[in-house]
Amino acid sequence: KSPPPKELVQKRKFLKRQKDKDMFETVEEVFDTSTLMAVYELMRRGVIGELFGTISAGKEARVYCAKSPEGKDLAVKIYLTNTAEFRKGIRKYILGDPRFEQIANRGLRRLIYAWARKEFRNLKRFAKAGIRVPEPISVYKNVLVMEFIGENCKRAPLLVELAKPENKLSTEEWQKIFDTVVDYMVKMYQKAKLVHADLNEFNIMYWQGEPVIIDVSQAVPLSHPYADEFLRHDIQQIRRFFSSVGVEVPSFAELYSKITGM
Ligand code: ATP
Repeated sequence: KSPPPKELVQKRKFLKRQKDKDMFETVEEVFDTSTLMAVYELMRRGVIGELFGTISAGKEARVYCAKSPEGKDLAVKIYLTNTAEFRKGIRKYILGDPRFEQIANRGLRRLIYAWARKEFRNLKRFAKAGIRVPEPISVYKNVLVMEFIGENCKRAPLLVELAKPENKLSTEEWQKIFDTVVDYMVKMYQKAKLVHADLNEFNIMYWQGEPVIIDVSQAVPLSHPYADEFLRHDIQQIRRFFSSVGVEVPSFAELYSKITGM
């Protein structure tokens, strides 16, 4: 066999270099040195045993599956520290929240650490109020470790996925999910005293017959100037989705008064 022509060899080399470069950039994007050190620190503390593949690669965060040293599945959410969207996206939630206002004006990195801690605390507050969320386990810098919703690194479906025709759920089952979600909304408002502020079919998973609320980093206290506006939006989103799957949803006014108790 004759050797491949010189141009082909060069092209292959070029492509390989490109691939390495791309891979390097992808890894680099999430795991800057400080993130890498944060993951190591969580390993040293015995929180994370091993880190596995990506579950989700959003604009603001990546979610990975990991194992605890005892072999339990974990979800590791790593907030990206270098995206422009992040800056724009979170300011409107943080400003006006007395717990975070002071921090908001300091460096971006610290802002992101505060954001990760905020999600951790919101998860705690929701869980304490009796709302099913992933159990928060640990937070360090821009890395949040929580219970994995699913098993063997296969995540549970989101409501949006459950609504696909192939997953045919009966109207009664949807009704049950809806009732539980409304019960969670009542508890969020009246017990946790928080508004989720991004509640929709993309932020609710379905696991072991129960809806599980995720992505609570942007949740705001009732005292937040936009809390009422966010709540109204959440209610509309929930009404829209559940009526699209055949649930006879109560009127907006009825839901609003049930949730707020007013
Ligand atoms: P996005 O930018 O897509 O809105 P996000 O960066 O705000 O997402 P989340 O919504 O919290 O992050 O999580 C992204 C995805 O990761 C979820 O849609 C879900 O598929 C998966 N996920 C999040 N938390 C868990 C968990 N605890 N267990 C299993 N999977 C999870």
